[in-house]
Amino acid sequence: MKIYLIKASAGSDYSKYKAETGGPPQNIFAAAAATPKQHQIEMCDETIGMKTDFSSDADLIVIFMSTPDAYRAYEISKRFHDKGKTILFGGLHTQFNQEEAAGFAHALILGEVENYWEQVLQDVENNHLKPVYESHEAVDLANLNPYPTDIISPAEYGYTWSVVVTRGCPFKCDFCLVHEFFESFTLRPIEHIVEELKHLKSIGVEWVELHSDNLTYNKAYALELFEAIAPIGLKFFGETTVLIARDIELLVAAQKAGVKAILLGIETPSVEALKAQKKSFVKPAKMKEYLATIRAHDMEVWGDFLFGFDEHTSTIFDETIAFVQDIGVDKMVPHMLIPFPGSQTFRNLDSEGRILTKDWSEYDGSHVVYQPKQMSVAELEEGMDYVWRKTAKISEKLKYLFG
Ligand code: SF4
Repeated sequence: MKIYLIKASAGSDYSKYKAETGGPPQNIFAAAAATPKQHQIEMCDETIGMKTDFSSDADLIVIFMSTPDAYRAYEISKRFHDKGKTILFGGLHTQFNQEEAAGFAHALILGEVENYWEQVLQDVENNHLKPVYESHEAVDLANLNPYPTDIISPAEYGYTWSVVVTRGCPFKCDFCLVHEFFESFTLRPIEHIVEELKHLKSIGVEWVELHSDNLTYNKAYALELFEAIAPIGLKFFGETTVLIARDIELLVAAQKAGVKAILLGIETPSVEALKAQKKSFVKPAKMKEYLATIRAHDMEVWGDFLFGFDEHTSTIFDETIAFVQDIGVDKMVPHMLIPFPGSQTFRNLDSEGRILTKDWSEYDGSHVVYQPKQMSVAELEEGMDYVWRKTAKISEKLKYLFG
């Protein structure tokens, strides 16, 4: 059977950010890696500008979508539907909008695919497709195959690749979907990661995202990982929490391993907003000291910042810019808060009648889709324009790893 795996993208700013801050998208590569060898695979990642080939002779079309890309995914589905193809939907938007997605696909694939993927393919071949396949158990990451590098070339990602290290997150921040999607926080065997990295090095990959939402949460595992990958001689980046700054042993090991940058969800200088989001482990008063400690170990700090929490007033924009300059972030990534369906933030806003639109194309970080609590919609919009203009100026002074 021939399978066409597509990551849909409407080309939103949010998609561009996801494409910029990592290598290959997890979902299409996870499905490809789990596909038995007797099948043929084609892949299209629209987030990097690839175009879906509607003349594909694949038997099965599998489309993954995030919320701002939902309508693009439905459009792709309709065109393949007209050609009589079997269509599956997966991805975060499918997970949390099942009724809507079911109207555009023959079956939905929910949760981590590896637990049922071979069964899906058998059912397609036997013409016994069920409407929903779902996994409620964490995948044993020891069973994960390396993501294929011979279908979409690493050159398409600027020789930046992504290697699975962990899945899930032990924290439960309100605005985040990671802990809503994954059943638990799981670790991949280090020897499997090392094997995959050696292969990547041999084919010319230069930068690797150690894919994890919380790379150093398990200190013993992180230390062992850093020690094992150090001899390979690649450059790494990864996402963790600022708690890494309190542990010099971890920082030294990460530096020796070749970790060159760390992405931190710093989010906001507002202590009240962090507390409300269950993210009190980010301590604004400590950030200057913490970031200096991380940067002293030859690692850049890329900081995600969010605007539009209920605790924010119209002064938050200038406050955040001053904070970023004060604490010494190397690369600031500012976003408007997006209340993704499936998140606690969305549930709260919806129950309070503050969701202004369910036009998913506007959930792209460029539109206000909810009524802010202490600002008008116009104030949030204008504030974001101001931050984007200002940070473009700040960024002239900042060093960007990827130019
Ligand atoms: S720490 Fe990061 S990944 Fe974990 S729940 Fe919070 S925002 Fe999500």
